[in-house]
Amino acid sequence: MPTRELTTDVALGVAIPARNARGRIARLGPVIDAVLANHDYPPAIERLLAEALTLTALLGSLLKEPQGQMTLQAQTEGAIVELMVCDYLGGELRGYVRFAPERLADAPDQPTLTDLFGSGYLAITFDQPVSKERYQGIVPLEGRNLAEAAQSYFAQSEQIPSLIRLAAEKRGGHWFAGGLLLQHLPEGEEGRDRLHTRLDHPDWPHIAILGGSVKRGELTDPELPLDDLLWRLFHEEEEVRTLAALPLAKGCRCDPDYVRSVLARFPADEREAMVGDDGLIKVDCAFCSSSFSIAPGELA
Ligand SMILES: [Zn+2]
Repeated sequence: MPTRELTTDVALGVAIPARNARGRIARLGPVIDAVLANHDYPPAIERLLAEALTLTALLGSLLKEPQGQMTLQAQTEGAIVELMVCDYLGGELRGYVRFAPERLADAPDQPTLTDLFGSGYLAITFDQPVSKERYQGIVPLEGRNLAEAAQSYFAQSEQIPSLIRLAAEKRGGHWFAGGLLLQHLPEGEEGRDRLHTRLDHPDWPHIAILGGSVKRGELTDPELPLDDLLWRLFHEEEEVRTLAALPLAKGCRCDPDYVRSVLARFPADEREAMVGDDGLIKVDCAFCSSSFSIAPGELA
């Protein structure tokens, strides 16, 4: 396997069969810069979104259907971050954050999850259109960071013992982020269909300790191929399998036809009120900041 392809903007499936452990490892580089380029966020919000996009890549790459979509949404009432949305479709990532700049100015330089979200909620939705499988879990945004909040999502919502690590940092003016997700999934079990979970299975703490020893600098190092990093962490294991690498890219699905179809669903008087001085309705895409100008006549 040419390891150069396993350094940035890629997610890789991991399995340690003898320990019933499976998961994903991912590193993001240019894709983060591309998403952030559409916005003008302060560093603390950029870091948050970089970690959230990494989590989105880890979870989205678990989808079995190529058409499947995964959405991560964090919502709060009156906190610094009001809304954060990221989603994944076929290796394409997008995301944005709506926040209160005046409240962020009063926060510490390296704000914690609680500083940013107060008592908010994290919703994770998996949507697989072919099998018509839709699943949503909602948990409180608790823990020191986003990785811990996502870990408690799997513990509470899916009862799957999970380890999640996320890190993001700027190196030479560019963002790099990495993430590791490992789950204890005994052979043949399909996640949430299980009848009972053995949280005390001895294989799991062992894998959680090895996986948990990953350093932030290793996750974000664009010179360290992901398979080399897996070897560092798990070289004492009998067998570590990697699955086909999945390339990651920035992608937005907004298009003028979709914007028209949304506008067409508004009552006529509400659409009237949206028309600007130039006679057009202006709509901005929150994800990519694309701007659409639609003439009301197009909506008839
Ligand atoms: Zn867009």
